[in-house]
Amino acid sequence: MNKVFKYIIASVFPEHCPYCGQPVTVGTPACADCEKHFPETIRECYAKGGYPCAAPFSYDGVFAEAIKNYKFHGRKDYTEKLSEQIARAVSCSFINVRFDYVTCVPMHKNQLKSRGYNQSQLLAKGVAKALNIPYSSLITKDKENEPQHSLTSNQKRDNVKGVYKTINIDRIKGNNILVIDDIITTGYTLGECCKILQKAGAKKICCATLCAKIIR
Ligand SMILES: [Zn+2]
Repeated sequence: MNKVFKYIIASVFPEHCPYCGQPVTVGTPACADCEKHFPETIRECYAKGGYPCAAPFSYDGVFAEAIKNYKFHGRKDYTEKLSEQIARAVSCSFINVRFDYVTCVPMHKNQLKSRGYNQSQLLAKGVAKALNIPYSSLITKDKENEPQHSLTSNQKRDNVKGVYKTINIDRIKGNNILVIDDIITTGYTLGECCKILQKAGAKKICCATLCAKIIR
C-alpha cells in the first residue's frame, strides 16, 4: 500500500493501540511503548485435564488493561491486533499440529444479550483468519452459571461442570481443534470445553488465550 493511501485510511479509520489506547500507525501491532513490553517467549500452561494452552502475554500491566477494555468497554476494534498475537503464540507453541477447526468458549444467551458480543468468539474468528483455518461453533452453553471470577477455586471447578454441550459433532470427530478464550486462570473453563470435545471424538485439542494468569 502506498504512503498516501495509508494516510487516507488512517485518517478515516484511525487505529489505536489495544494496550494503552494511543493512536498507532495502521497495520502495527501496538504503539512503540507497549511493544517494548511484549515478552520474547510464549506463556505455555495447561487447562484442567492436561490440555496444552499457549498465550502471548501474562495477565498484568498493559495486557490486563487490554482485556478489560476489550471485554467491558466495547473495544471490538481491537480484535484483529489481539487475535494476531494469539495466532503468533499458536504458531510458535503448536508448530507440529495441523488444526482442522478453531472454536471458542461460548457464552450463555443472556450474557451475550447484556454484553452484546462474545469476546472469545471475536478472537477465535480473528485467529482463524490469521492462521487460515476455518472457524466453527462447536460448543454451546445452555445453562447459566455464576461468573468464574467471583468464585473460589473449588467453586470454579463445580461451576463449569455440565454447562457446556457440543454441536456440529461431524466437525469434531477425528479432528484437531483449537479452543480460544480471552484468558486462562484456573483452567477449569477451558478444561471443561476440551473434555466435552474429547468425548465427542476430537483427536487433538489445544487451547490459546490472549493472557495467562495461572492460579492453582
Ligand atoms: Zn500502547
